[in-house]
Amino acid sequence: MSRYKINNLEEYFKEYKKSVREPRKFWDKIASENFTWYQEWDKVVDFNMAEAEIKWFVDAKVNITKNCIDRHLAKKGDKTAIIFEPNDPSEEALHISYTELHQRVCKMANVLREQGIEKGDRVCIYLPMIPELAITTLACARIGAIHSVVFAGFSASAVATRINDSDCKMVITSDGGYRGNKTIDLKGIIDEALVNTPCVANVLVVKRTNSTINMQEGRDQWLQPLLDAASDNNTAEIMDAEDPLFILYTSGSTGKPKGMVHTTAGYMVYTAYTFKNVFNYEDNDIFWCTADIGWITGHSYILYGPLLNGATTVIFEGVPSYPDYSRFWEVIVKHKVTQFYTAPTAIRALAKESLDFVQKYQLDTLKVIGSVGEPINEEAWHWYNDHVGDKRCPVVDTWWQTETGGIMISPIPFVTPTKPTYATLPLPGIQPVLMDEKRNEIEGNQVVGSLCIKYPWPGIARTIWGDHKRYKETYFTAFPGKYFTGDGALRDEVGYYRITGRVDDVVIVSGHNLGTAPIEDAINEHPAVAESAIVGFPHDVKGNALYGFVILKETGEYRDRENLSKEINQQVSNQIGPIAKLDKIQFVSGLPKTRSGKIMRRILRKIAEGDYSNFGDTSTLLNPEIVEEIKNGKI
Ligand code: ATP
Ligand code: MG
Repeated sequence: MSRYKINNLEEYFKEYKKSVREPRKFWDKIASENFTWYQEWDKVVDFNMAEAEIKWFVDAKVNITKNCIDRHLAKKGDKTAIIFEPNDPSEEALHISYTELHQRVCKMANVLREQGIEKGDRVCIYLPMIPELAITTLACARIGAIHSVVFAGFSASAVATRINDSDCKMVITSDGGYRGNKTIDLKGIIDEALVNTPCVANVLVVKRTNSTINMQEGRDQWLQPLLDAASDNNTAEIMDAEDPLFILYTSGSTGKPKGMVHTTAGYMVYTAYTFKNVFNYEDNDIFWCTADIGWITGHSYILYGPLLNGATTVIFEGVPSYPDYSRFWEVIVKHKVTQFYTAPTAIRALAKESLDFVQKYQLDTLKVIGSVGEPINEEAWHWYNDHVGDKRCPVVDTWWQTETGGIMISPIPFVTPTKPTYATLPLPGIQPVLMDEKRNEIEGNQVVGSLCIKYPWPGIARTIWGDHKRYKETYFTAFPGKYFTGDGALRDEVGYYRITGRVDDVVIVSGHNLGTAPIEDAINEHPAVAESAIVGFPHDVKGNALYGFVILKETGEYRDRENLSKEINQQVSNQIGPIAKLDKIQFVSGLPKTRSGKIMRRILRKIAEGDYSNFGDTSTLLNPEIVEEIKNGKI
């Protein structure tokens, strides 16, 4: 994969302008220079935004696993493709070479075919972060089966909903999974889920924990004996550019999860290109993204992006707090990680703990550090920059979504000067615009609006599985002709973007639109505060007022909550203005979060309004017990 030959901001702007003036030419060159195709395209892109119909590399034929694996074999066969770092640090890490990965994916692909899986069939993968998760996912792609990886932290009913929504024929799971000091009974969860999933005919079970499990006669089989009997010779399926590659459900922060469908060629081109450029990837780098493969971040930047570039990618089974809070840093040193990509929720959790955990380690192999998933507040940004990046590694605050397939707005390391809380500039090929309430494009800088993208890019999801109408309505109706992200953003005086939160979360106080991120950022600056979330609630005079939920750091100093509330409000007043002062502040021990670690503001909004009757879909909620605590402690 080629990298931009950009050395400074001026050159970036030149390249960017070219990509906007001639997007077809821009993507055509990237696609033809960096991949192996069975057949090239007739047309680079074909689209009708009003109908939400988008096609890239029309009529091209390709297989993504040929590009991820086979083509590297000649020169990089012995190179490590995957480093597996187990949950338990005393268990040996594994190094899987490209040659071994090829053999294992081919065997798995043959097993799938022997089990009756054909091109276009859906396979649900519910596995912990072990090599088999990568291998089975790639094996599906190899034979053209559509993978639907479901994060192995979801409950039985959440898995069942997802299996049924996409009519999966097969489930691949394991006898269990390790997470910190816990063992999770994944097969038990699948057994419970499958009571209500008539579409599933077969279950393949990977052995990981050696737990005693129930194997249902005629349905369940251990995977290993099937692999042992399978040939490692496999011909990849020839896929059309627009054949679906996978279905992936969004995090569910805002409502019913959506089964986003990504297709083959566009997703391949986009993840490879963004990986290479956003992480400044070079040949001998060791890349580590701490997300789970069950989220888009894991799909694009643990699996596809790195492998398409012939990189070495780390799969980490554990959690940042086990055996203690230095695990991330220990793994970076152990495997000489050069790029580290994680989420604000992890950064905040680690920043709450003693600095000794991170300062014990020399993180000098690191070159670039990244953040994704939520707005990163200023304090967390500085902590990350100072203590992990040593003020030496650019922090790439990458804004993107399940729907976008890959990173959209982000600094380019060593080119774009970073600015805390700013995702900065769009990547070449991406055309963001800010829209006002009257659906007009807002020109110029120092403006705020709804973030839309006005021209398609190869990685955009093509539909919601089984519900194109919902896809069109959700993303293409609010601002006709444009893709609406659902997020609000501001553009500063130099054109840098800052995501201010979801448009649905904006609170209108006395006629002023207030985004959640900047206010939470101000609250979090207070030395006693670890994390916070704000929502609006109805107010007679102001229309809406602000309600803040605040988690304190473990310090005993601030026992006087009343005084502390005043100080927090003073802080908000100084940084944002008196209009953003909170009417109510509730101190809590935790916040409701999705299983991917994001704050679920819609639940807090209900609590603030005193409406406990309808929390909507809570299947993606990580910590339901905290909801009870907050309800009971409501002021
Ligand atoms: P759902 O769509 O089901 O509500 P979700 O939006 O949380 O769930 P994802 O696709 O995983 O599901 O998350 C994308 C969203 O995460 C973005 O729309 C944005 O709100 C937020 N986000 C991601 N990265 C960043 C970032 N760097 N800065 C600010 N916000 C971010
Ligand atoms: Mg979303």
